[in-house]
Amino acid sequence: TQACLDVAQKQAPRTAAYVAMAEREALFAADESDRRRSSGGALSFLDGVPIAVKDNIMVAGLNCTAASNILRHYVAPYDATVVTKMKAAGLVILGKTNLDEFAMGSSTETSCHGPTRNPWDEARVPGGSSGGSATAVAERSAFAALGTDTGGSIRQPAGLCGVVGLKPTYGRVSRYGAIAMASSLDQIGPIGRTVADAAALLEIIEGPDGLDSNAVATTPDQRVSGWPESLKGVRIGLPKEYFVAGMDEEIEGRVRKAVEKLEELGAEIKEVSLPHADFALAAYYIIMPSEVSANLARFDGIRYGSRAKGDNLIETYRKTRGQGFGSEVRRRVMLGTYALSSGYYDAYYLQALKVRRLIAQDFADAFNEVDVLLTPTSPVVAWKLGEKTEDPLAMYLADIYTVPVNIVGLPGVSVPCGQVQGLPVGMQLISRPFEERVMLGVANAYEKAVGRLEFIPSI
Ligand code: GLN
Repeated sequence: TQACLDVAQKQAPRTAAYVAMAEREALFAADESDRRRSSGGALSFLDGVPIAVKDNIMVAGLNCTAASNILRHYVAPYDATVVTKMKAAGLVILGKTNLDEFAMGSSTETSCHGPTRNPWDEARVPGGSSGGSATAVAERSAFAALGTDTGGSIRQPAGLCGVVGLKPTYGRVSRYGAIAMASSLDQIGPIGRTVADAAALLEIIEGPDGLDSNAVATTPDQRVSGWPESLKGVRIGLPKEYFVAGMDEEIEGRVRKAVEKLEELGAEIKEVSLPHADFALAAYYIIMPSEVSANLARFDGIRYGSRAKGDNLIETYRKTRGQGFGSEVRRRVMLGTYALSSGYYDAYYLQALKVRRLIAQDFADAFNEVDVLLTPTSPVVAWKLGEKTEDPLAMYLADIYTVPVNIVGLPGVSVPCGQVQGLPVGMQLISRPFEERVMLGVANAYEKAVGRLEFIPSI
């Protein structure tokens, strides 16, 4: 814990992965853990392991800002279920990591705390929205971290920072205590240095929860661990719609090399089709803002967060929300309100739900032929700070490979698969619902075969 705190302090002026450290609490928890371990009473196999937590997940007594001015001074009154579970297992919470405001973004630049920078190249973004968590793990200021993923926010920054990012099946992990962005898409998940680390943290945080009715119990054959060591007989599908124009050629080269490696290891490679893949991003940018507009209605300056006083109630709402939310958040609230409004609901929201159904069917069909799908995590490597901030559409396109997974509620993991121009490249593996074990088995076999030590930035 002390070593992580030291690295975090040294790196803070360079990368700014954290928005707040919980130094005193962390050292206290680490001491307690030492005592338990020396008396043979460790609470779990991860007792004492220091973890960073994204700042849209509540840790009682610490600020929880969601990187928004409207929550700048908000103190979490309770622990998120994932935090309760981590504490019960003896894990140490180091601090809160930076994100895009309310997790809306792909670069960690829309944060009210200022941007986080990629530890591989500080002129570049770490990806987002869990950019702080991915950076903390990559720079070794945490052993692992929690992120949230609504359209790629765990996998994409993990890919851009050269670490492992795991988005669980919708319903595997309780969302209670995570500040909601789009409730039908949000999942909390781990970011780790290795596949095994990410899987281990998932085993701590998963499980049913009376406080999130979508969080269900898994059956013994849906457990995370116990993946097969061999890839013999594992069928891996390459969706042909994903390997098309728009993808950086060098990235495609790296990913195809990884595919060759998996084939060498015994996997069977097949081309598959996801015919409606083209519509996923469009559907996401209707469904997500619609849910955002509903979820963020609660931030009106009355019950939560800061208030800008007006002459009357409506004025107070207007000023509070106008000043409290940044421009990307306001854009999405407006888009969502519009998509849900009378007269447009059928044309937009309802239509998007129908497309969602078709995309789910595509994946179900593909999983009749293969066990795991493989795609790049991101069409580009980490870009320069400021490069996409003026062009929301360019920013949205960064999520083109990750968004379909959330639309369908599937599990997905990003694993480092080499570098392009000295920057990390990630490949994404996708499984059937609650079959995390299968994609993690493939990811682990690949990681073992190529050696993970290649993937450390020289800080
Ligand atoms: N980058 C995507 C967006 O801006 C996904 C964000 C997320 O997963 N939280 O919506």
